[in-house]
Amino acid sequence: MMINRERFLRMMNEQATFGATPDGGVSRPALSAEDMQVRDWFRQQIEAHQLTYAIDGAGNQTGRLSSSKPNAKTLLLGSHFDSVPNGGRFDGALGMIAAFETLLSIKDANLDLPFHLEVVNLTDEEGTLMGITGSRAMIGALTHEELMNPRGGRERLTDGMARAGLSDDSLLSAQRDPDSLLGYLEVHIEQGTRLEEAKVDIGVVTSIVGIRSYWMTFAGEAAHAGTKPMDKRRDAFWGAAAFALRAQEMIMADFHPGVVNFGQIHLAPSAFNIVPAEVRLAVEFRHGNREELDNMETALLEQAHLAADEYGLELDAERGDSLRPAPMSDSFVNAIEAAAEKLGLSRTRLLSFAGHDAQSFAIVTNSAMFFVPSVDGISHNPKEYTKPDDCVNAANVMLQAVLEIAKSMG
Ligand SMILES: [Zn+2]
Repeated sequence: MMINRERFLRMMNEQATFGATPDGGVSRPALSAEDMQVRDWFRQQIEAHQLTYAIDGAGNQTGRLSSSKPNAKTLLLGSHFDSVPNGGRFDGALGMIAAFETLLSIKDANLDLPFHLEVVNLTDEEGTLMGITGSRAMIGALTHEELMNPRGGRERLTDGMARAGLSDDSLLSAQRDPDSLLGYLEVHIEQGTRLEEAKVDIGVVTSIVGIRSYWMTFAGEAAHAGTKPMDKRRDAFWGAAAFALRAQEMIMADFHPGVVNFGQIHLAPSAFNIVPAEVRLAVEFRHGNREELDNMETALLEQAHLAADEYGLELDAERGDSLRPAPMSDSFVNAIEAAAEKLGLSRTRLLSFAGHDAQSFAIVTNSAMFFVPSVDGISHNPKEYTKPDDCVNAANVMLQAVLEIAKSMG
């Protein structure tokens, strides 16, 4: 059993006409006029194929293929149609069309699965408003505080809600009963070059990385940049720089595939002719495994203290935002691998270093996702491209994974 390639590729092209940009990309920020157009088109597609259409209080659109089995749970297949401003036509959209085509193929074959199947367009994955908003609403993780002070600004959120007929209250009450869910499955473009470089068809995500952050402040002493002898200086920048370079070496040598980043640096005083007394360094690190994340944190703090001591500095390490790693469901990972195997596609296991809706669902139910190659790793860019054969693979693996999950339930 295979998906309908022609119908699938036609829908891939059609969705890209909404919010199309002259260079072949799409611009559909969440709940913008362009996003509303693609949503309207999607609703029409669901209705035209006699699936049951619904929209929840967070604007998540679903098309449902019901099982005849009593007390059946629901397997969600989804992604997002929203894009970053001036983004590509594959990010999110490929997952949506692959999920929708999977439902249509199962409907065409008149299969009665042991679970309801729902394709879901999740609101604001990209964070124009808040980020993975629809999935967090579905698991009941949004808060009133965040709605009052959203990442994209309150005005943008209220404008979007008005356009889509949503409200603060509707967003906060969009939670689905977790007991009604069997799980969530998503396919996405890789947005990196690991699959392309390894010439592998399918990347099976085992975990979406956790993220931790620190503001590290190295404090020394301001001094004249000319007259103060070099060996008497307590230069805060030297300590911070030594720490950054050692951390880079250490993470690469001991914590692969973990990553560390120093994304901001503030010096005080900040002048050509003054030895800096204070450096504030923004440190962020990611890993898919919680224990490794703990070990990275301990090791980074130790290196920071060593560097500070070496240059006669004080160190203050202030913990910032963090996000837990989201391990994917073993049984779903196995189903995806079995699906790839059946289709004769090569596969590898990997971590997702970017956030996705699957991390929300992982908190309450089985959740898993897989990647197909992105040409040159380009994403969030109109030049983003995934070859038609890889797009078709995405949909076929999705279909087979659903059948594997059904088979495992007997
Ligand atoms: Zn995406």
